[in-house]
Amino acid sequence: MPSSWIEIDLAALRHNCREAARRLGERTAMVGVVKSDAYGHGMVPVSRELAACGAKFLAVSKYWEARELRSAGIGVPIIVLLGLEREDVEDALCEEVRPVIFRIDHARMISETALGLGRRAMVHVKVDTGMGRLGVPWEDIASFLDEASLLPGLEIEGVLSHFAAADEADKAYCHDQLRCFQSVLETFRERGIPVPYAHISNSAGVLDLPHAHFQLVRPGIMLYGSQPSSELLQPGDLRPVMTFKSRILQLKSMSGGRPIGYGRTYMTPRPSKVATIPVGYDDGYSRRLSNRGVVLVRGHRAPVVGRVSMNMITVDVTHIPDVQPDDEVVLLGRQGGERIAAEEIADLCDTISYEIYCNFGKNRHKFFMGGVEGL
Ligand SMILES: *Cc1c(COP(=O)(O)O)cnc(C)c1O
Repeated sequence: MPSSWIEIDLAALRHNCREAARRLGERTAMVGVVKSDAYGHGMVPVSRELAACGAKFLAVSKYWEARELRSAGIGVPIIVLLGLEREDVEDALCEEVRPVIFRIDHARMISETALGLGRRAMVHVKVDTGMGRLGVPWEDIASFLDEASLLPGLEIEGVLSHFAAADEADKAYCHDQLRCFQSVLETFRERGIPVPYAHISNSAGVLDLPHAHFQLVRPGIMLYGSQPSSELLQPGDLRPVMTFKSRILQLKSMSGGRPIGYGRTYMTPRPSKVATIPVGYDDGYSRRLSNRGVVLVRGHRAPVVGRVSMNMITVDVTHIPDVQPDDEVVLLGRQGGERIAAEEIADLCDTISYEIYCNFGKNRHKFFMGGVEGL
């Protein structure tokens, strides 16, 4: 038994996938966003479930992630959000991988490679409608298309953009972005370039912007059971998928006035029972949780006392009856009637649930439960 581990509830994942799907009209399909190891949840098992739940595409950031999915036997078309490097184009085109394009030199290179293979590359054109990050600036789309639409090795399968603030209650900026996106789609129409799939909505768009679903939506975080933020107008009924567990490695009774951990930042205020847990910042448990984090022991909340070390934390369990060495500890998830949500940890770390999942997900030991049989 490992000393700490992640449990992934695939039944909860399927529930969340259905929560996304039931918000979509008949003509809207879903891209399951599984970049960054499915936000730490395990890209391959998660992708299998999402494909079985009807995700028409998967999206990753980088080509090597698409390769891993193909090696695992997952055949769903994959969108590579950051595009392709030259050396990967040939393999990618043989594997039903769809690069996102945003640079004309990339477009040329992909077209040439595809022609060399005697085929056409399916691509998705990324447009920057106000995120200011990746994509052809929406004002420049006409000149981009002047050349890109003539490249004989390309077939434009999709046009996408990304919302900067769809998770905020005030949707004014989303509507500005949507207007730009519509004008881009209008440019395609005027030129007679068909766009089978337009897509702009992330999880927040799926939940709060039903008129922004187009032919495809790209939910990520909601599949993993978190709201994109606490400001959503129409939060879904989502179930957390990830649990992070460990066990008490040592239990100590200490007298009052004893220091705990590096820097002696905590002194026992009274005689105390302190449990040492074999989880530290190397396991994704941020050092910012020093003297701030909370874990669950025997269904009670136990505060982290002292600094988080690389591989250990110490928690005060004085108030919890019957604590024993080897007792299960929950760092994220439920135990008894208590729960620690990724959002709670994120608030303490001044970040968002996404980063907590990514960090915890880097743990070596991951167990998948509740999968659909026969997959
Ligand atoms: C990560 C990502 C998403 C998913 O966003 P969520 O907020 O997790 O739903 C969608 N589209 C793109 C381009 C992304 O990078």
